[in-house]
Amino acid sequence: MGFPTSTIGFPRMGRNRDLKRALESYWKGNSTAEELVAVSNEVQKKAWAAQKDAGVSLIGLDGTLYDQMLDWTFYLGLAPPRFQHLTALDQYFAMARGAEGTPALDMSKFFDTNYHFMVPELDDASEPKPDFSLLLEKVKRGQEVVGSDCAVPIVIGPVSFVHLANCKADASSMICKLVPAYKQLLSELKGLGVPEVQMHEPALVFGNANDFKDSCEAAYKELASAGMSINLVTYYDDMKEDVFAWVTKLPVCAISMDFCGVPGVELGNETMEMIKKHGFPKDKRLGAGVVDGRSVWGSEGSAAKALSELQALGITNICVQSSVSLQHLPYTLEDEKALPEDVKGRLAFAVEKLAEIVKVACGGVPESATVLGSTKVEVDAKLFDRPLPFAERRSKQICTPAFPTSTIGSFPQTSAIRSVRMKFKKGEVSAEEYKCQMTGHIAYAIGVQEALGLDVFVHGEAERTDMVEYFGQKLEGMYFTNNGWVQSYGSRCIRPPVIVGDVHRREAMTIVEYKIAQSLTKKPVKGMLTGPVTILNWSFPRKDISRKAQAMQLALALREEVKDLEEAGCKVIQVDEPAIREGLPLKKARWDSYLSWAVDAFRLCCGVAAPETQIVTHMCYSDFQDILEAIDRMDADVLTIENSRSGNEMIHALATYGYGRDLGAGVYDVHSPVVPTVDFITSKIRSFMESRVLEGHADRIWVNPDCGLKTRDWKEVLPALKNMVEAARVMREEI
Ligand code: GLN
Ligand code: ZN
Repeated sequence: MGFPTSTIGFPRMGRNRDLKRALESYWKGNSTAEELVAVSNEVQKKAWAAQKDAGVSLIGLDGTLYDQMLDWTFYLGLAPPRFQHLTALDQYFAMARGAEGTPALDMSKFFDTNYHFMVPELDDASEPKPDFSLLLEKVKRGQEVVGSDCAVPIVIGPVSFVHLANCKADASSMICKLVPAYKQLLSELKGLGVPEVQMHEPALVFGNANDFKDSCEAAYKELASAGMSINLVTYYDDMKEDVFAWVTKLPVCAISMDFCGVPGVELGNETMEMIKKHGFPKDKRLGAGVVDGRSVWGSEGSAAKALSELQALGITNICVQSSVSLQHLPYTLEDEKALPEDVKGRLAFAVEKLAEIVKVACGGVPESATVLGSTKVEVDAKLFDRPLPFAERRSKQICTPAFPTSTIGSFPQTSAIRSVRMKFKKGEVSAEEYKCQMTGHIAYAIGVQEALGLDVFVHGEAERTDMVEYFGQKLEGMYFTNNGWVQSYGSRCIRPPVIVGDVHRREAMTIVEYKIAQSLTKKPVKGMLTGPVTILNWSFPRKDISRKAQAMQLALALREEVKDLEEAGCKVIQVDEPAIREGLPLKKARWDSYLSWAVDAFRLCCGVAAPETQIVTHMCYSDFQDILEAIDRMDADVLTIENSRSGNEMIHALATYGYGRDLGAGVYDVHSPVVPTVDFITSKIRSFMESRVLEGHADRIWVNPDCGLKTRDWKEVLPALKNMVEAARVMREEI
């Protein structure tokens, strides 16, 4: 009864991050390769078994030691020359993490997710030397766990592999070069008796995917001749109309599409509209990604609705599946004992999504979708604007020497700091004792800045484990999971909070620490907040109201904090938005709609500040060239950016744009333990001057590190900041 079901990916770390622990122990030399592989196999076995137990009919054999793109670089024998003296796991992990004198592959964000993949490096000299033995062995293991009828290999298709790579050769010739290897693989898989193969081709949702038409058609024509059933799997967005037109004609048995898009995004996925308009080929199975694989919220209702719409169109050859790999979700809700029952009943993590897939396929879902009830957020347009424009307010703000010095917020999170925070959380340390110790850490940070002679101080963020968690725990409407870990890259996992209801501020969140810090110095201390867009982008959003509405709720809550900081006497308030760029939709055509509300949310948060208050913002990565206008519209008085590892591209772009507000481009890399010399920093500052950014306004060129210093030790931070202050002094003499 019902439709067949399929999975296209599952969390890879194991329910208790077993693989993470095994990897880290192996890297430290505490366990052998055999031990690591044994854990990895066990994690995969459990994941596949969970899918089998849920009743899924076609199980995608997901699972990787580090990253699936890296797996394919390895299987295809495309390790760049600098890794070729290494073999097996040594080569694999050298590509992932670097080895003595051999830098790792680049890492990059995977589409618009918070997952990061290892970017293959291809050029004219790249020649595949495929060895699929590990993959074939994995498929056999899968067949043992779920049975030969259910075990479906997952393959990263040649088109996506090449288009996600850093490819210095012509992309279509590169695809041509890879096709024989893929064809050989398909015939080997055929020999194993698998029912079909999933060819993952997410690159087909890129806005420029029409450029791949010829090479993709040629590749799949050739691959089809291997005589293996291919399920062409796309996800993360819809295919554009012109792309859909030729993709549906490719010689494959099934095409899988994402019907869900990004949670809370209104101008999202149009897969359903496209099928309504153009139909779907009768000779192919439709992999209907109707169960939302990116949202932690249950999606049975909307999935059932989409399924019945497809049936109403006369499409019956359907396989029900998740919209994207379930790897972006935590493992299971079972581990969330503290969740209020009413919320828990509406959530679904990876294991629970499996049950949804099967239930929807059997038609066992009531008509109406579960919604939380929608909250309208009406904001008076006047609230978005500061009372005076930058040109008129800048002279009313704090006065500093030329090349003012500051830092981005956090100071080293020493073991003493982490231990007292932990003990306080466990109730082993009283609130009074905790405050006492925090005061000590703040006092130390202030003393250091005083001694070094910085111009604008920070309190050091000792009380914060994480810039989102700290605020999320103080805000109403956000839930922090016990075990809701999601892989970010390699062994690194993040635990995003879930927005479970309307967000409100219960009480002031940062005033105590600010006051302590400011009471110890006459220099201005920055108030330090995480911006609304970053909190939203690093959380699991609600699905029943738009991301925009959620951003505005967060902005209104943070706006109260800005007001309170001002009332406490704070003259400089930093609102960090490192994640603003991450939220950009995949297709450029949808950028404006995102940027419009994202910038508004920031403005709503800061618009309450008096002209005399200086608003600073901070962003981590430096490739903002294509969103300069949005950054300008944020109307921050000071923009600080990560810069030191780039060739000043962002500064040149800002100069060309004519950006006129204060700029704090990072003068040294905080990710490296190397202490920058005075000369190094002065030459950085001189290079800013040469770019003619803020010409004639040396007092608006800030001197600060790239980012927060929480991962460094004081023994690096002290000499680095000393040299930074000295470099600013040298520069002041030069002008
Ligand atoms: N204020 C934060 C810090 O210094 C900013 C962190 C970030 O940009 N990710 O830690
Ligand atoms: Zn940063």
